[in-house]
Amino acid sequence: MSGDGVVIGLDLGGTKMHAAAVDAAGGLLGSQRDKTLADEGADAVIARMAALVDRVRQDLGALAEEVRAICVGVPGGVDERTGTVDHAPNLGWRNVRLAEQLRCRLSAPSAPVFLDNDVRMAVLGEWAYGVGRGTRDLVGVFVGTGVGGGLVLGGELRAGTRGVAGELGHTPIQPHGPRCSCGRRGHVEALAGRAAMEREVGRLVQRGWKSCVPKLMKKAGTTRLTSSIVERALAEEDGVMHKVLADTQYYLGLLVAGVVNTIDPEVVVIGGGIAERLGETFVAPIRKHATKHFLSQRELDRVRVVPTELKEQAAPLGAALMARRRLRLDTTAAPSQGTPSWPAPSD
Ligand SMILES: [Zn+2]
Repeated sequence: MSGDGVVIGLDLGGTKMHAAAVDAAGGLLGSQRDKTLADEGADAVIARMAALVDRVRQDLGALAEEVRAICVGVPGGVDERTGTVDHAPNLGWRNVRLAEQLRCRLSAPSAPVFLDNDVRMAVLGEWAYGVGRGTRDLVGVFVGTGVGGGLVLGGELRAGTRGVAGELGHTPIQPHGPRCSCGRRGHVEALAGRAAMEREVGRLVQRGWKSCVPKLMKKAGTTRLTSSIVERALAEEDGVMHKVLADTQYYLGLLVAGVVNTIDPEVVVIGGGIAERLGETFVAPIRKHATKHFLSQRELDRVRVVPTELKEQAAPLGAALMARRRLRLDTTAAPSQGTPSWPAPSD
């Protein structure tokens, strides 16, 4: 192992967490997972995160000494400079000094801890090691409870002027539409996220549409429309599920079209639980709707709209790459020949 050492990427999700040790070439050296159990409060979750990182380090044997940094992808907004989670609704966290607290709890507290947003880490992971390998420009649309996103342009994950770039789920798409988690109306997230699908299924069932979804939820002991329930309802040819999914794919198609007309990327990767589970079945209609709205119909095959390849590995791998970049250990540059007809930036 070179002096570049090893970094650990940790994806902190609302229900589970997943840590991966990654070498300088992006090779996975080992990974571990655990439940988040957010109900137990931030202290208990941070203790579990520290134990998870320690387990990954133990598996590395002698290489454990070479862990240079840890980066955590958090489901919410973070202040990278202070290492604070501003607000993570799925965890019920506000103003949690995560970087400092995690570092204090690690058995070997020397490595710095960085924070970033989980979806942005997944998008970076897909760009570097998944469907975006060898490209310069990639856009990620991640459909979970809400709709997240991220932009890699010229090989750089864009933060924007105020650090909030890539929030594609809050694109207004239907004036006077349903209320979004952010409080505004008609954003894509309010029309196409998992929570929106759950609401729509409930509304149709209330109106008397026949559906197996309530029965499947009851059997699974949940009140949530999980991606596994979506898959099972589709397998049972459930009309409500088919309609709600088709509407979701339509809205996501419009979103993708807007992004492609703005950025003209090489890849749009669709990720999140439903995309991981349904893959091309989920993405094909999104691609079809989007393509109709592409302003330029020239060389359509050069814009790939594809499902996630790395699935749940995307965020830990992206977080590991971000750790390297924050330490300035990463020297991978985007290929300069990505789009010959487009002038390369002079960096
Ligand atoms: Zn919104």
